[in-house]
Parts: sequence; structure tokens; C-alpha cells
Amino acid sequence: MVAFRQFLLKIHSRCNLACDYCYVYESADQSWRDRPRAMAPGTVLRVAAHIAEHARTHGLSEVHVVLHGGEPLLVGAVRLDAVLRTLADALDGVAALHVTLQTNGLRLAEDPALLPVLARHGVRVGVSLDGTEAGHDRHRRRPDGRGSHAGVARALRLLSEGPHRALYAGLLCTIDLTADPVETYEALLEFAPPRLDLLLPHATWHTPPPGLPGRTAPPRTAPGADPGEPVPYARWLCTVFDRWYGAPRRETGIRLFEEIAALLLGGSAHSEAVGLAPLDLVVVETDGTIEQADSLKVAYDGAPATGLDVFRHTFTDAARHEAFRARQRGRAGLAPVCGTCPRSAVCGGGLYAHRYHPGTTPTPFAAPSVYCPDLAVLVDHIAGRLRRDVNAAMSAVAGPVPS
Ligand code: SF4
Repeated sequence: MVAFRQFLLKIHSRCNLACDYCYVYESADQSWRDRPRAMAPGTVLRVAAHIAEHARTHGLSEVHVVLHGGEPLLVGAVRLDAVLRTLADALDGVAALHVTLQTNGLRLAEDPALLPVLARHGVRVGVSLDGTEAGHDRHRRRPDGRGSHAGVARALRLLSEGPHRALYAGLLCTIDLTADPVETYEALLEFAPPRLDLLLPHATWHTPPPGLPGRTAPPRTAPGADPGEPVPYARWLCTVFDRWYGAPRRETGIRLFEEIAALLLGGSAHSEAVGLAPLDLVVVETDGTIEQADSLKVAYDGAPATGLDVFRHTFTDAARHEAFRARQRGRAGLAPVCGTCPRSAVCGGGLYAHRYHPGTTPTPFAAPSVYCPDLAVLVDHIAGRLRRDVNAAMSAVAGPVPS
């Protein structure tokens, strides 16, 4: 059993945007409809006590809490302050508490009381931004159809240029193949993010990625050096990688690339997107139910459910649940195809949700990622760039390195 170190709390289950790709509201799982809008104070108290108990039981010196939604800032400054105080009180003297909050940003500019609360509790803030104004507003619109870029830009200026810069964790950008990759990256850079991440749109073999409607059958063998089929997501990402990696100075961090590079060089990764590290993240919904990662909502209605909740179960109960243990088996948990793939230690079979194929046995997640051919090309591309640079550097100090 692997103890949880990351606790993602849905403190508000509704959103002030209506993004067309949203996996919470627009995907197969529609459980949000039956949940309370905000996590009640008694539920927060219960969650905080369970996190502290989990830290004590498993000897954790630090825990990470991610405040999420819906849109978590819809709880308002007073309730947000109360949530953060409850967490801090419960963890005081037990484990170091690191809190981040993932937001669409709009409320930060609309409610001046929010940033001081976040600052008082040292909460690091990640903001979702999809690149240029046109690219962002193509998908991230308000319920009345208006774009949200202008509001997010206002919030990002407050966060990145004001006295609260230290809270700025970075940007999350969902890839849109119709957007130019370099323009997208440079539009993100305009807000000086300390780090950003580029997310593949959530998709499965049953619900293929945008732009790849024919990608419905998992491969029977691991991709070769040339996967022989279109890999538009790899092309998009490789273009950004070359622009980022080739910059004369470090402009920002890009989590996906940094983690692939770290894994290629024998290090470890901490995201679910790549690598074979066991999952250590658990989700608590506004009603106190304990769930798996949100991305599973793209698979089928109820996919993240565990049947557990914080009123009857502990997080140790959850960590013993088969749904979580299935995500902690490393290479043994991969699809047979991935087991034969030379990239498996780096790719890790891709995000668990992206492996879903209803016809696969023994579980519908025992397929390689629906992005398998793209991941193969991306990993090979980054490996190639690193190999060239390492060889050049080694040659400079010790003569040519055999390839
Ligand atoms: S999903 Fe990743 S590890 Fe599995 S076969 Fe494809 S490239 Fe290899």
C-alpha cells in the first residue's frame, strides 16, 4: 500500500465558465449534478482530521493539498479563509502543509479580498490559460458565450506583477491542434509563468482525441521509431519543445518536458502524465466522497468512484482500495504492449484515463494510452536532443562517446 501525499479537495463543485472540453461537466461522468455546491464546514473539518491522521499513521513529514473545483474561488474569501484555517489547525505539529489552488482566474480580478487570504495562508496559485486570446476564447467561454481571456489576463497581471508574485505557481494550458504551437507558447510567456504545463485533451480509445476520430483501436505492438500513423500531438509538442529547449536562456519550466527529460536521465517524475511512480493522489468531492483522479471522468459515468467517504472511511482505507492499488503497480500495471516498449519507464503508458478501452481485459484500462504513437515520438524526440547534447558535452571533456 502506498500512502497518499496529495489530497485534492473539491471545495466548490460549480464553475463560472462553460469550457467546451471540461471533463467535469461535459464528459461521461455527470456526478457533479447531485453534489452540494460547496464543501460544508463539517466536511472540511472531517477531511482535515483524516489528512492529519493519515500523515501521523504513515509518518509523512509533509502533505500537499490542492484546492480544486469546479471553480474553487467561488466559495468566496470568508469561506476560503475558514477552509485554510481548518487545514492549518489540523496539520499543526503533524506535517508541513503545502496548499495550491487551481483556478480559472476570473474571481481573482473580481474579488479583491481573495488574494490577501491566499497570501495569508501561503497558497500557491495555478491558473488555466490556453494561449492566445483567440485560442483561449475558442474553448474557455462564459455561460453566455463571451470569452474569458480578458478577465484571466487581468487576474494574471495582479498575480504576476503585484506584491503577490510569490504565490504564482504557473499556468495550465490544454493543447488545441488548431492553435499554432509557438504562438501558444509565446502567449503563455507573456504572463511570465514560473512554470507551465501542456495538457493533452482528455480522451480514450472510446472517445478519441480531437483531430484523431479514427484512433479507436489500441496497437498490438509497441510503436517503432516511425509509428506509421499521424502523430499531430507529438508534432505540436515537439515544436514547442524545440522552441523552449533552444531558447538562449531559460524562459520558464515546462513540466511535461522536464519530467520526460528527468526520467530519460534516470531521475523521477511527480506527475501522473508520465513515468511509473505509484499514484499518491486522492480526491475528496464536496459531499465528502473519496474518489480517484478527476481525469477518469472522461472514461464512463462513475469511473472515479470508490464507494468510500470521509464520514465512514479513512484515507488508509482508500489507499487499500483496489482502484488505487491498480495505479501503484509500476511496470506490472502496464498493458502487455507497453511491457515490450523501450520507452515504458519514461512514458509510463500515459495518463491512466487515456488508456481506457471498453473491450480490453482484464480491465478496460489495460490498454496503452490513446496518445501512444504521439508519446512514442515525443519521448524519442526529447531523447534525441538530450543524447546529442550529452554526447557533445562529453566529447568536449573526454573524447567521443560511443552511441
Ligand atoms: S503507451 Fe507509451 S509505453 Fe505504452 S507502447 Fe505506447 S509509447 Fe510505449
